[in-house]
Amino acid sequence: MKASPMRALTLIADRKIETSDLAPPPPPAADEVQIRVRAVGLNHLDLWGFRGMAFAKRKYPLVIGAEASGEIAAVGPAVTMFKPGDRVVMYGALTCGECKACRAGRDNLCENVKGVMGFHLDGFARELLNMPARLVIPVPDGVSLRDATCAPIAFSTVQHMLFDNAKLESGETVLVHAGGSGIGTAAILMAKAIGCTVITTVGDDAKAEKAKALGADHVINYRTDRFEGVVRKLTAKKGVDVVFEHTGAETFPGSLLCLKRGGRLVTCGATSGPTVTFNLMQLFQQQYKIFGSFGASLRNIGDSLAKMAAGLTPVIDTEVPLGEIERGLARLESRQVFGKIIVNF
Ligand SMILES: [Zn+2]
Repeated sequence: MKASPMRALTLIADRKIETSDLAPPPPPAADEVQIRVRAVGLNHLDLWGFRGMAFAKRKYPLVIGAEASGEIAAVGPAVTMFKPGDRVVMYGALTCGECKACRAGRDNLCENVKGVMGFHLDGFARELLNMPARLVIPVPDGVSLRDATCAPIAFSTVQHMLFDNAKLESGETVLVHAGGSGIGTAAILMAKAIGCTVITTVGDDAKAEKAKALGADHVINYRTDRFEGVVRKLTAKKGVDVVFEHTGAETFPGSLLCLKRGGRLVTCGATSGPTVTFNLMQLFQQQYKIFGSFGASLRNIGDSLAKMAAGLTPVIDTEVPLGEIERGLARLESRQVFGKIIVNF
């Protein structure tokens, strides 16, 4: 019997996505599982990919989707951890599992990583795919697949930034940029959950209300106020312990001005541009620590799912069906979002 084709979303040129029929994967190898994908989460990474990146090594057509959830459809003969029907999320990069970093649980520093799914390699926006079982994480009871879709990138990136890198502690003050974004909303939730004071920036008053409702203590509309000045006022000129950066060129120099002496800045993005100038005297005299953060570890994804099970519900802006992914991307690009955009299969 010939297997019927499966639907996939493929990027065929810059800014051109089409729904295509691909051959389904073969039965899973010994240490693989076959996953039926149920939902894909959109991230800025998808926008970078969608617009085209001259320096990224990859070939078209490329199946998109870097963050997803699904159900186990079949397991390879050596797999004991999963059975058909189990609900899972997948790690978004093909790491080796054997290098020093992988063995130490620092998966996002893998020395032999083959690439990021949906960006360098075919991604998750297809009905079925095979993955090594070691890169698949079970979804706990009580967490919906829709919410779990936000664990592999949005929640785990924030978990890694705030806790592994910036070592945010209870009682500290954190400035979260773009509090309406997928990772911004997650950062507000996670920082409030451990008893931090959260200051956040948003681009309009409607988002300000939503950020307050999420728990942010102070919300700054960066279009009407200079956030650096407001943060200094709010902290009685002392500055914040941690800045959560991902907006880049427009905010980075101001973010440094918001830090208290010895403060930590952690960044995972540059949506407003990648190049900044800052004062090295300020960096060393104020003893700032700056962390670049990309991706997360498998453990971070498990911790994120555990936080969801404990009540940290991701903020979902919009759900779109498979055929309307471009509407989702356009919404993300327009910065109108508050929370995550999910594409359902
Ligand atoms: Zn490795």
